[in-house]
Amino acid sequence: MTTDMNKTSNRAIEVRELHKYFGENEVLKGIDFHVDQGQVVCVIGPSGSGKSTLLRCVNRLEEPTSGKIIVEGVDITDEEIDLDQIRSRIGMVFQSFNLFPHMTVMQNLCIAQQRVKKRNKTEAVEIARANLAKVGLAGKEDAYPAHLSGGQQQRVAIARALSMDPDMMLFDEPTSALDPELVGDVLDVMRQLAQEGMTMMVVTHEMGFAREVGDKLVFMDGGVIVEAGDPHEVLANPQHERTQAFLSKVL
Ligand code: ADP
Ligand code: MG
Repeated sequence: MTTDMNKTSNRAIEVRELHKYFGENEVLKGIDFHVDQGQVVCVIGPSGSGKSTLLRCVNRLEEPTSGKIIVEGVDITDEEIDLDQIRSRIGMVFQSFNLFPHMTVMQNLCIAQQRVKKRNKTEAVEIARANLAKVGLAGKEDAYPAHLSGGQQQRVAIARALSMDPDMMLFDEPTSALDPELVGDVLDVMRQLAQEGMTMMVVTHEMGFAREVGDKLVFMDGGVIVEAGDPHEVLANPQHERTQAFLSKVL
């Protein structure tokens, strides 16, 4: 019992029997998994398998139909929950950066810090600068997103998420919209975050990243987790026919 409780306290995210319907369409059909503190869990699977929906349920951008999602011991499917508080602990990075085009990089990095974290401007700017440097973009404070490459914009988006001091980060295909030569810089930043101990859930098609950086690999298809385990194992020796078929197309 004590051991169980210790284990639970090490859990960053726990998903139990998660179902999600869009109308009649059941897109998550009973998902169970967990992410421990400091773990990197990569999620792969064909388009439409429910990867984004799963990620979006974890910070309640989507409302689960049933099941439980426990983040750092708190059931976030509870109706009483303070969503802003939950979301400020979970950084999210999307395929399509979602930067405000009419704001400079610095303004993009400060707005949520000031509105949600209630930081004053000096403090917000200081934190933003530190995070820009971390993603290799010191000096880009006054640039507008349109003047940056896609890879730079994505790194700004990562710096923006980090500026909220999240306990964990969710990435939804962060490099899928990038030209191939820009992917590496973004993956380097993510690899560095992982090495620093950030808890991460990463939906990705970058199998090399999943293999090298991931602690666990989850393969989804048709709204279920078909197979999950050590990335080296799953990639080298997939157990299920659906995993084999998918990997034979992407590897
Ligand atoms: P993936 O990220 O693996 O490509 P998604 O989670 O985006 O898959 O989508 C899973 C299924 O849910 C798809 O069939 C998609 O069309 C459907 N879906 C996703 N979002 C919505 C929505 N907001 N309304 C209706 N159906 C949706
Ligand atoms: Mg998706």
